[in-house]
Amino acid sequence: MNQIDFENENLFAFDEGFFSMMYLAGFNKRLVREARKAVAVNREFCLKHLKPLALEVDRKYEQDPNYLPWEMVRLAAKHRRLSSYIPKYLGGCGEPMAMIGPVMEEQAATDTAFVGLLGGHGLGLAALMMTFNLKVVDQVIGEIVNGEKTMNPVMLSCAITEPTAGSDVEEEELYPKARLMCSAKRVAGGALLNGRKVFISTGHVAKYHVVLMPFDQKRPLETFAGFLVPSDAQGFALGRMEHKMGQRAGPASELIFEDCFVPEEHIIMAIDDKFGRIFPGQYPRLLKGVLGITRAAVGAWSTGTARGVTELAIDFAKTHKLKGKTMISHQFVQAHLTNMVMNVLMARAVYMESYFSNMINLKMGLDKIPAFLDNQLVAWLLSTKPYKKILHSDFVRKLFLQNLSSATKAQDRRVQYAASMAKVVGSDMAMENCHLALELCGEAGVRHDRGMEKFFRDAKLLQIFEGTNQLNRLNFFHNYVGRYVPGVEVY
Ligand SMILES: Cc1cc2nc3c(=O)[nH]c(=O)nc-3n(C[C@H](O)[C@H](O)[C@H](O)COP(=O)(O)OP(=O)(O)OC[C@H]3O[C@@H](n4cnc5c(N)ncnc54)[C@H](O)[C@@H]3O)c2cc1C
Repeated sequence: MNQIDFENENLFAFDEGFFSMMYLAGFNKRLVREARKAVAVNREFCLKHLKPLALEVDRKYEQDPNYLPWEMVRLAAKHRRLSSYIPKYLGGCGEPMAMIGPVMEEQAATDTAFVGLLGGHGLGLAALMMTFNLKVVDQVIGEIVNGEKTMNPVMLSCAITEPTAGSDVEEEELYPKARLMCSAKRVAGGALLNGRKVFISTGHVAKYHVVLMPFDQKRPLETFAGFLVPSDAQGFALGRMEHKMGQRAGPASELIFEDCFVPEEHIIMAIDDKFGRIFPGQYPRLLKGVLGITRAAVGAWSTGTARGVTELAIDFAKTHKLKGKTMISHQFVQAHLTNMVMNVLMARAVYMESYFSNMINLKMGLDKIPAFLDNQLVAWLLSTKPYKKILHSDFVRKLFLQNLSSATKAQDRRVQYAASMAKVVGSDMAMENCHLALELCGEAGVRHDRGMEKFFRDAKLLQIFEGTNQLNRLNFFHNYVGRYVPGVEVY
């Protein structure tokens, strides 16, 4: 039986649930100022540029399921949404990492699908960064930043799901049971990849794919490695694009590897390289680190979805009449809308808790970087040869990996359950608000030009990726309630 440490007698202990209160201790005015600015910039972008395109792209896809959303990709590049979280000192837009959530919420409130398009890119970037292979990170970030300047957008995807393994490669505990069909093999000068990945967001519009697969399918957790594969690599091909019910601006693609050669320098993480030997267990840490961030992000994205459909419902209630008075003057409508708004606020509170748990444990956030370092001058300095040499050195990579592996089991656990909670609560609230909106608005709700039915179709997908909500519930139980029940088996 799996023995679980019994760490805290009180299931509802203060430190387990009030990350934001803990974060207050180190609060910083600059963080709030920058966050406010980022939300305002994104709100203007959404209202002026994204809103007019959202329904049009959805309609185009309906007419042609092979349609690729290049106009949205170009829009994102033009407004520097592809480098939004890349710090200024690396040449990016420099929106505070700590405030990814409110920015995503803002975008999703206008178009859930646009966040899906950026989400695949963000997932790829997060996975790449978590390897701390700074030479490759630097190269790719340079291309993303440059691509925005020259309007040749560079996007990433992150490929882990296989036709026979979805949930099983999301949770560390399920890896030993996974039926994997992808694997890598060491060859002179690099590795050969074989197999297929499916449902990979952004696949058809990405220039690079961050591909995760094992060297040995029988020992997946020990041998999972990371590879950077450009879309024109030999032995790589794009397969079908899924014809899905929602989030149609974000393609979900099949990636095919047939003796696809990856040179040594693009094996971004492997257990048998020098870092893998010093930091065993690097892959499970990367997986948990990435999911801690991306599940919180799905929580924010879902909150935006819940909010977007609520805004449409309020507009409808303000402009339509029932029994001689506007709908919003009826008490039953006021109660109905109150439930919807409360759902949004509740989901927001939960994803913020998850972000705070990440910030505390991963020691990330704008407030950790002195203001005088986050600027274009430092970006230029870092681009000079001597600094690049330091940045790309083994010494610096070891420092980052040490930081990542220094989190205690209890810290890891908090990040995990808070992220699962943000993802489940947010996406369930998004679905619930879509139901409530359609219920309130009747036939108007199901008309495409109103946008509500699109929110409904888009919202359903939020409950599936980054681990299904069922699996996230189990993850929450395992990491939160499980510690209170010694020896309980979850998976
Ligand atoms: C729009 C979209 C975009 C995506 N983007 C990406 C991407 O960019 N990269 C990527 O790698 N993947 C991506 N995915 C894949 C996604 O991560 C998987 O769909 C998800 O992990 C679920 O896996 P599955 O679909 O194979 O479902 P399955 O694992 O087959 O699950 C089927 C059902 O069984 C339940 N279940 C499974 N295992 C257990 C268990 N042990 N205990 C209890 N219940 C269980 C699940 O909760 C679910 O209800 C995307 C998916 C979608 C829909």
